[in-house]
Amino acid sequence: MSIRIRLTLWYIFLLGIILIIFSTLLYVVLKVSLHSQIDKNLQDRAQQVSTGIKAQTIDIEGWQKGLLYLPPPSVFSSPATFIQLVLADGKIILTSDNLGKQHIPLHDKMLAENLNGMPTFKTVIIDSVPLRIYSAPIIVGPHIVGAVQVGQSLKEIENTLHLVLIFLTGGTVGTLILAAMVGAFLVRKTLQPIEQINQTANQIVGGQDLKQRLPAPKTPDEVGQLTETINNMLQRLDNFFQAQVRLSADVSHELRTPLTAIRGNVDLLRRGAASHPDELNEALAAIDGELNRMSRLVADLLLLSQADAGLSLRMGPVELDTIILDVYRQARLMASEVNIQLGHEDQAVVQGDTDRLRQLLINLVTNAIKHTPTGGTVTLSLYREPEWVRITVADTGRGIVPTDLPHIFDRFYRAQNNGQTSIGLGLSIAQWIAEAHHGQITVTSEVGQGSVFTLWLPTKNEAGGATSPKPNQI
Ligand code: ADP
Repeated sequence: MSIRIRLTLWYIFLLGIILIIFSTLLYVVLKVSLHSQIDKNLQDRAQQVSTGIKAQTIDIEGWQKGLLYLPPPSVFSSPATFIQLVLADGKIILTSDNLGKQHIPLHDKMLAENLNGMPTFKTVIIDSVPLRIYSAPIIVGPHIVGAVQVGQSLKEIENTLHLVLIFLTGGTVGTLILAAMVGAFLVRKTLQPIEQINQTANQIVGGQDLKQRLPAPKTPDEVGQLTETINNMLQRLDNFFQAQVRLSADVSHELRTPLTAIRGNVDLLRRGAASHPDELNEALAAIDGELNRMSRLVADLLLLSQADAGLSLRMGPVELDTIILDVYRQARLMASEVNIQLGHEDQAVVQGDTDRLRQLLINLVTNAIKHTPTGGTVTLSLYREPEWVRITVADTGRGIVPTDLPHIFDRFYRAQNNGQTSIGLGLSIAQWIAEAHHGQITVTSEVGQGSVFTLWLPTKNEAGGATSPKPNQI
C-alpha cells in the first residue's frame, strides 16, 4: 500500500473517531438534558398543583367528595402537561381538561409508593407514544390523602433527538467523504516533490551518470533538505568513483613500468647475456630492483586499502624518544653519503601504535635521504609541548617547489625532477597514520635549501580523540 493511501486512510480514520466521539457525546448530553428538563417541569407543575389544592381543602370529607378544582396552570411554564388527582383508594377524582375522557394510567406500585410518602417517576407507552409521568403524594395535615399525577408526552423530544441523530450521522459521513477527497489531494500535493526526486534519482542511477544532480529545491523544507542530502551523497559517490578510476589507472601504470623493465632484462638474458657474467649480474640486479619496487608498491597499496577499510591501530603507550633513536640508527645504515644527526631531544610518551609511528618516521626520513645530495644533512628532533609533541625531520636537500607542496600528500603524486624511484604513496601513508593518531603532518620547504616535515601528535590522545586544537590553528 502506498504512503499516499496509508496517510489518507489514517487521516480519515482519526477524523472519523474524533467525529464519532464528538457526535455521541453531543447526542447523550442533549438527551439527558432534555429529559431532565421534562422531569423538572413535571415536578414544578405537581408542586404547583399540590399547593393550590391544599389551599382549597378544608377537611378530609371535602376531599372525598371531590369538591375540588384544579388551580389554573401556568400555560407558558408547563405547556401540554396532563394532570389528574387520585384518592388513596385509587379513585380518580379530577383530571385536567386536555385529558378529555382519557386518564393517566394508574399503577398500583406508584400509588403505593406515594402513600408511603415517596414521589415517583415512570415512563409508559400509550398508543406507541411515550408518556413521562410524575406522581407525588398530597399531604393534608397528618394524612396522605391521595396523589397528584402529572404527565407529559415525550414525542416531541424523541422527534428532536431523532432529527439530531440523522443530522449528526449524515454530517459525520459527509465530512468524512469530503475529508477523504481533500486529504487525498493534499497528500498527493505534499508527496509530489518526493516522487519527482525518486524519478530523477532513478534516471541518474539508470543512466549511471553520477555527475547529474537533482534540481535545487525552491523552499528550504524537509524535501529541500532531502534533495541536498542526496546531492551531497551523489557528489561523494562521484568523488569516490573518480578516485577508484584514478587509482586503477595509477596502479596499472605503476606496475607496467617495472614489468616492462623485467621483460626487457629477461629478453636480454635469452639473447645471450646469461653467458656473460657481467651482463648476467647487471640484468639480475635490475630485475631484483624492479621486483623490490613492485613489492613496495603492493605493500603500500595493501596498507592504504586496509586504512580505507578502517584498519584499527594497536594502541598503547609509545616512547617517542626511543622510536626516534631506532629510526636514527636505521637511517644511518641506509645513508652512507648523507649525514644523519639528532637535534633537540625531549622525552615524550603518547598513546599510539608503535609500529605505525615508526613506519611514518621511516617514510619521512627515507624521503629526506632520497632528496638530499651527497654531503647534506638530515636532522631528527623531538619537542615536548604542553598539548602537542612535535617531531621534525629536517633536510638540506633540494626542497619542494611551491606548486608541488599542496599535492605531495596525494596518492601517487610525485614532484617533478625527483628521479625514477618515487611511487608517490609514502606521504599518503604517513599522513593517514598521523590522522589515525589525531595528529597531522605539516611541511615547510625552500627550493635549494631543504625541507622540514613536522609530525604533530596530541599529548592527550584519548579514545574520543584529541581535545587540543589542530596544529595549524596554533
Ligand atoms: P614516495 O613514496 O615515492 O617517496 P612520497 O609520497 O613519499 O612518495 O612523496 C611524494 C613526493 O614528495 C615525492 O615525489 C617527492 O618529490 C616529494 N618529497 C617528499 N619528501 C621530500 C623531501 N624531503 N624533499 C624533497 N621532496 C620531497
